[in-house]
Amino acid sequence: MGMDMYAENILDHYKNPRNFGKLNNPTGTYKDSNPLCGDEVEIQLQLSGDKIDDVAFTGRGCAISQASTSMLTEQIKGKEIGHVKKFTQQDIVSMLGISIGPTRMKCALLGLRTLQKGLWGMSAPSDLTNLQ
Ligand code: ZN
Repeated sequence: MGMDMYAENILDHYKNPRNFGKLNNPTGTYKDSNPLCGDEVEIQLQLSGDKIDDVAFTGRGCAISQASTSMLTEQIKGKEIGHVKKFTQQDIVSMLGISIGPTRMKCALLGLRTLQKGLWGMSAPSDLTNLQ
């Protein structure tokens, strides 16, 4: 799959990731990887009560994994933590704006899965099982 197939917003987030870096005083740090593709992300949250005051991430890997995590951080910053729990595979696909095959879906969901697993022990967004 060539880079030219990716939508411009994905390349933009890949080259200029939002909320990239580390927080000074994170409430939680969540790490995960996608060995199939070699993607890694580490996401940090600064919570105040149930609200996500700040979020930052670092990572490496393919454009889909890094762009989707970057977009996710933009979506959840300032929101209630419960918002993250309700995020679905379809939300991620809509956010990316391209169709994602089963293999690439693991890349696309890495950031969300990292948070949902770290926060609630969710192994994967519930509708991901439909693909496997
Ligand atoms: Zn990947």
